[in-house]
Amino acid sequence: YSLDDFCVPAHYYDDLKCVLLPKGLILDRVQRLAEDICHDISSPLVALCVLKGGYQFFTDLLDCIKNHNATSEKSFQMQVDFIKVKSYMNDQSTGVVNIMGSDNLASLKGKSILIVEDIIDTGNTMVKLLETIKKFEPKQVMVASLLLKRTKRSNGYRPNYTGFEIPDAFVVGYALDYNEYFRDLNHVCIINERGKKRYAANT
Ligand code: 5GP
Ligand code: MG
Ligand code: MG
Repeated sequence: YSLDDFCVPAHYYDDLKCVLLPKGLILDRVQRLAEDICHDISSPLVALCVLKGGYQFFTDLLDCIKNHNATSEKSFQMQVDFIKVKSYMNDQSTGVVNIMGSDNLASLKGKSILIVEDIIDTGNTMVKLLETIKKFEPKQVMVASLLLKRTKRSNGYRPNYTGFEIPDAFVVGYALDYNEYFRDLNHVCIINERGKKRYAANT
């Protein structure tokens, strides 16, 4: 969609190619995803937010799940936790990811886990994260990703719940960043060359 048809902050106007997913469209899809998840999930649930990019999706998805629980005859208990994921640098041998920030991963044992992620690109991060989480013996692990990129680089991994499949472009907004910028943008947009240059990391 054209930037002119949506509310985009003036400070980002020249750095974006187009609006790919307006926030209103995302919220509608998130509500549907929440219905599907509530139908499938078994209690007790731990909703695990993968920071930072997953925070907006996590917030909106959990709002819908809470509303469901408040009005449905079949409700379930839910706890929340937050993690940050880093793959070990220069270490291809173990394929282990470093999980930071969680209260206590051992408490995942025997519970249903819903990992909430912003975007799957190659799928490598999620495959490694799942291997690591499964070591803590949860009862069930599901993954909800707002976005799934259609790319030749994909390792074939597909999440249990996908909001939107998107083309192979770098997207920002709705908490997704480019070097920490653009999280303060409501819609999912495609960044342009000017934006990439302007906010390039100083290396
Ligand atoms: P993967 O391991 O699947 O290749 O990459 C996963 C992570 O890379 C995502 O969770 C996200 O943090 C980052 N990433 C991949 N593609 C994009 C993109 O188009 N935009 C943004 N903002 N981050 C991306
Ligand atoms: Mg992510
Ligand atoms: Mg990022």
